Amino acid sequence: MKVNSLNKRFAFVTIVLFAFCSIFCTSGFSQAGARTEIKIPNIPGYITLKCDFHMHTVFSDGKVWPTIRPEEAWRQGLDAFAITDHIEYLPFKDDVRPNPNRSYEIAKPAAQALGLTIIRGAEITREMPPGHINSIFLQDANALATKEWRDAVEAAIKQKAFVFYNHPGWQQPENKAVWHAEHTEMLEKGWLHGIEIVNGGDYYPLAHKWALQKNLTILGNSDVHNPTGLDYNFYLGEHRSMTLVFAEEKTVEAIKQALFAQRTAVYWQNTLIGKAEYLKPIFEHSIQIVNPEVTLRGKGSANIQIHNKSEIDFLLSANGAVDELSFPQQITLYAGKTVLVKISGKSGSLSGEKKIRIPYIVKNLLIAPEKHLRAALAIDVNFVPTERENN
Ligand code: ZN
Repeated sequence: MKVNSLNKRFAFVTIVLFAFCSIFCTSGFSQAGARTEIKIPNIPGYITLKCDFHMHTVFSDGKVWPTIRPEEAWRQGLDAFAITDHIEYLPFKDDVRPNPNRSYEIAKPAAQALGLTIIRGAEITREMPPGHINSIFLQDANALATKEWRDAVEAAIKQKAFVFYNHPGWQQPENKAVWHAEHTEMLEKGWLHGIEIVNGGDYYPLAHKWALQKNLTILGNSDVHNPTGLDYNFYLGEHRSMTLVFAEEKTVEAIKQALFAQRTAVYWQNTLIGKAEYLKPIFEHSIQIVNPEVTLRGKGSANIQIHNKSEIDFLLSANGAVDELSFPQQITLYAGKTVLVKISGKSGSLSGEKKIRIPYIVKNLLIAPEKHLRAALAIDVNFVPTERENN
């Protein structure tokens, strides 16, 4: 009796385990990685898409098969990407049959399965000048395999591609960006739409300056050749260099529109680079003053609590003074944290409510080379006079 019942129980447990395994273990694993969202808010009228428009695979000199790029992009919080294999530089051509369209075609189903937007691209790779030129939103990358560089760029333009100048300081003395007559020629012909001001770990202030002068779209891309985990220490919180695109929706067409309209910013290390019209709403939608109404008694002090829901540590530096109160010269609004900012009254005799704007610049929000976004902390202060102040 007892043995029989134990056998039955054993059989039942075995069946349950078998059923569990067939449901959860049939594909060989039960969990296939996790996506880390990039916490940078949308701005009014646009969604903030996290994009990388420059990377390589074994179809040029990259070290990964094309399907790895969408997998990495998804895990690393990107919304859209372009693989831009070199047209002319094919060190693995004896092992991988050359075809500048193949990396896109192979990666596309994997990207779509993960809900990512993939854009067909290629890198025109010539001696400087004009150096390396990316073209994206292509129909057929094969048309760019021409003898003369001008023919290659023209072929991209005929396909209504978005064309940008890559890493303008790469292999130049002191990594300093260069601008040649050929770039002016491209610009004047309407053949140049953007410029990388960030490539991998490098920021090119000169390129940033030119972008502003010449109305070029700014881009920041990884230009990754390795598996991304070899180039970025994600376990230390690093992120790949990327372009933020302010688009109406997450489609190829909307991204293209935004790029041609210069609606981009660059996310590089702990810095955002872009026009004030984009960085200001990002900052304002990232921070929240938890207690915007405070009371100051005479020369006493009070704390403002400021929460930062983005993933960027904002580095604030005082930009002037306020007659009524003193405030810290430097503040770091840590990513994901709420910090206390101590303010103190300057006079014992003030009374009544006042709206005060505490002036700062945000040192890691760059609107031009060495020029920072101005931002004010707006609070309502109730001043209560104290008797018998010394001065
Ligand atoms: Zn490249």
